[in-house]
Amino acid sequence: MSTDIDAPSEVDLLVAGAGPAGMTAALVASLEGLDVLLCEKSGQVGGTGATSAGTLWIPGNSQSRTAGFDDKAEQADRYLDALIGESTNRELRKAFLASGPEVIDYLGARTDVQFLPCGKHPDYRSNMPGAAISGRAIVPMSFDGRLLGADFARIRPPVPEFMVFGGMMVGKADIPRLVGRFRSISNFIYSAKLFARYLVDRLTYERGTRIMMGNALIGRLFYSLRKRKVPILFGARIADLIGDARGITGARVKLGTKEIVVTARKGVVLATGGYGHNKRLRDAFMPQPVPVHSMSCESNFGDGIEIGQRLGATTAPAQSTSGLWTPVSVVPRPDGSKGLFPHLVLDRAKPGLIVVNSGGHRFVNEAASYHDFVLAMFESHRTTPTIPAWLICDAVFLRKYGLGVIYPGHRNPGKFVDSGYIMRAQTLDELAGKIGVDSVQLRKTVERYNKFAKTGIDVDFSKGETELNRFNGDADHAPNPCIGPLLNPPLYALAVWPADIAVSTGLAADADARVLGSDGKVIPGLYACGNDMASVMAGSYPGPGTTLGPAIVFAYRAVMHAKSAAL
Ligand SMILES: Cc1cc2nc3c(=O)[nH]c(=O)nc-3n(C[C@H](O)[C@H](O)[C@H](O)COP(=O)(O)OP(=O)(O)OC[C@H]3O[C@@H](n4cnc5c(N)ncnc54)[C@H](O)[C@@H]3O)c2cc1C
Repeated sequence: MSTDIDAPSEVDLLVAGAGPAGMTAALVASLEGLDVLLCEKSGQVGGTGATSAGTLWIPGNSQSRTAGFDDKAEQADRYLDALIGESTNRELRKAFLASGPEVIDYLGARTDVQFLPCGKHPDYRSNMPGAAISGRAIVPMSFDGRLLGADFARIRPPVPEFMVFGGMMVGKADIPRLVGRFRSISNFIYSAKLFARYLVDRLTYERGTRIMMGNALIGRLFYSLRKRKVPILFGARIADLIGDARGITGARVKLGTKEIVVTARKGVVLATGGYGHNKRLRDAFMPQPVPVHSMSCESNFGDGIEIGQRLGATTAPAQSTSGLWTPVSVVPRPDGSKGLFPHLVLDRAKPGLIVVNSGGHRFVNEAASYHDFVLAMFESHRTTPTIPAWLICDAVFLRKYGLGVIYPGHRNPGKFVDSGYIMRAQTLDELAGKIGVDSVQLRKTVERYNKFAKTGIDVDFSKGETELNRFNGDADHAPNPCIGPLLNPPLYALAVWPADIAVSTGLAADADARVLGSDGKVIPGLYACGNDMASVMAGSYPGPGTTLGPAIVFAYRAVMHAKSAAL
């Protein structure tokens, strides 16, 4: 793997990992006048962040306020107290809430890392005290990858399942216009422009350069780092730290077969993305049976956490809250490999879909947040096999709303039956037989659910009763935007599995992201942020952007502390 600069042997701050957390730390360090080196293990920047939706949860942010969506950090504080408990991480949460808006404004004023308000985007427990319906979530502005020239290839691309035509990114706002391209002139022109831009892009680039969501966040961070000429060492794995009685003073960095030592006068920031693919840590921290799927970037092996553990750092929180989850379906790809499609928001809350376990029972409000949905899978699995669980819908639903990678209006769902992605049957009994689910109970479940569709009231799981449910439902469907009948064959079933999109167990740290030893005291010169830092939310998932918001805020706080700290 190539490196693009000669490595300096001495810097102020050494940052490990070029995901959103590490890139932010390196950028802020440079803005604050520190001599910084960013080391990235792979050949590309972005990590898991590049494949993410890119949403940040920043209560009280000024972008939303300016757009007329008022929100107060005190309200969010009340919400987090109710959700997480008053005694857990209170000091860290206060620091996060206090710094959040300031960090976003700082980046907006001094770099190309610019955000837009999402407007309405309900918190995930929208019926709890202090929860907000709008104003807390922000997203990066889309980014023109052409500004990076040849460096565009250094941005980790989104997963193929999130692109169309083999390389074009599509945002949530694009979907209705592309699907309805023949329904209005304006939709047609909009779609034609997107496609024309993409065709031109492909003459020069491997994929479309109109990037958005997490890819735009990374594009903007990378562009800002390049403008400031911050050195980034690719193919550079932080292998271990070095130190003396004063604390951490540098690191050993592996560059292929070579090893270099970099001295860091102000300390080292670990931002290596958490323990995603580290089997030992998955076995130690995750619920049983340990989920086999992870959406973490393939180079994330818990390096930062293991380095911290070797130095006697504490990990937190406890086992049961160790992941931030989404249900995924497994997508057979034409080349024989398999992709993972996260069922975040597009299908589960739409009217006419249920989820069942192997007993044929529903076990959760299908429109719950992706994290809460998977927690319910784990709970149900204790008594009835629920991994995988089955999303069930009929032909009308599939055509109108799509399912997983099958987009709405798809003309050839048979292709996905042939590839084994979905199961199809003419009757519920036949479908139950194909997926190994109790057929008598499945019939009863669907009959009962179809009655809820008439009344609009889900007596069992209250589907459609929260703002979050309705936000992801179909506003044009009555009486309940999330409940519709399953009546029209053929019927379809799709298996979903738990997968981590992030982890919450990491290195325990204080409000300045300083890593804590087993004695509760800080390890001087050692900082952790992003998924390497134990989640400030302690395993809860309050709203859209729960990991990226704190990742960026604590990266900033780490640098602001390091800047003035004397080792
Ligand atoms: C589909 C999907 C959607 C998501 N959407 C959202 C969202 O909208 N909002 C949200 O808040 N979160 C979201 N997430 C989660 C979010 O992407 C992660 O929590 C976030 O990217 C973590 O940032 P990070 O910087 O800690 O790690 P990463 O983004 O994973 O970056 C870590 C980097 O460290 C590098 N690295 C690893 N080991 C070493 C080493 N030893 N030395 C040097 N470098 C190393 C890796 O190669 C990688 O580049 C989503 C995740 C997925 C999968």
